[in-house]
Amino acid sequence: EGRRLAALASAPTLTRDGAHMRLFANAEIASDVAQARARGADGIGLYRSEFLFLRQRGLPSEDEQFVAYRDLVLGMGGLPVTIRTLDLGADKADAAGLTIRGEENPALGVRGVRLSLRYPDVFSVQLRAILRAACYGPIRILVPMVTHMGEMVAVRALIKKAREALSREGHELPERLDIGAMIEVPAAAIGVTSILQKADFLSIGTNDLAQYVLAADRNNDALEGIYDPLQPAFLRLIAHVIAAARRARKPVSLCGEIAGDTAFTPLLVAMGLEEFSMHPGQLLQVRDKLTVLDCKALRQAAPKLFRAHTRDEVEAHLLTVLAHGV
Ligand code: PEP
Ligand code: MG
Repeated sequence: EGRRLAALASAPTLTRDGAHMRLFANAEIASDVAQARARGADGIGLYRSEFLFLRQRGLPSEDEQFVAYRDLVLGMGGLPVTIRTLDLGADKADAAGLTIRGEENPALGVRGVRLSLRYPDVFSVQLRAILRAACYGPIRILVPMVTHMGEMVAVRALIKKAREALSREGHELPERLDIGAMIEVPAAAIGVTSILQKADFLSIGTNDLAQYVLAADRNNDALEGIYDPLQPAFLRLIAHVIAAARRARKPVSLCGEIAGDTAFTPLLVAMGLEEFSMHPGQLLQVRDKLTVLDCKALRQAAPKLFRAHTRDEVEAHLLTVLAHGV
């Protein structure tokens, strides 16, 4: 079994009926990058940049951040790297004291892009570091916790300003750099067509999206039967986001835990997903799972799968499709 999976490290990612899928790695630390490459990832789909901020007291300087992002993109040898801007707040309190202490409801508080836009000077340091690193390889910027289009407009304006300043200072700049939105707030998922006006790509963060859609803390074990990504209402919302991105012909990936959970792979394929981003330890299992799936049959079965009333019905329909086709 181990050897069979190891052989998949250099294999293309194809379904049984020959549909191409792309598998990206989520990364936090250097060893994730090595593991991603060793397992044939198509790139980094989610670099959680806040880990640079959690590791030390005080804020990392522009140069410290630049070196980290440059080494990341060089480490991936020309494959695309998606850097998520600071996602502090809620469960991720920083050592530098940016996050607000004592919020009554931190998961619904000043976190992600809300925090970055509250401190545009700190945010601009990060944007400058990313722009400088983007001369060393293909980088994309991903904005966390977007609620509405206005936040994307504000981020784009700060990036434009950072670009102009760097250019005045004589820095080399990348010609283009895609800016994407994480879809992890219900309003962004429901209003995804508006977000798409200002996003070059999307990445669905199902860890948080499930928490907010189901009103269930993602870290509370007592809510096991409620924090359940198999709930049909939740699946329909993800399917809606994927369909909207496909209609707009913009790339959409999914980077929550379910992207690396093979129990969900057929459902995500049925929804039309073609890009998955997961912990590098899961890459081979998901590639292996994809080789036995019939993409066309799953997509045809999608309407029935997502019309289900209960999570058990979803599972039952899925088993039938997997066993007999549509
Ligand atoms: C998510 O919310 O699904 C996600 C990928 O981001 P994080 O787990 O870092 O919040
Ligand atoms: Mg999240």
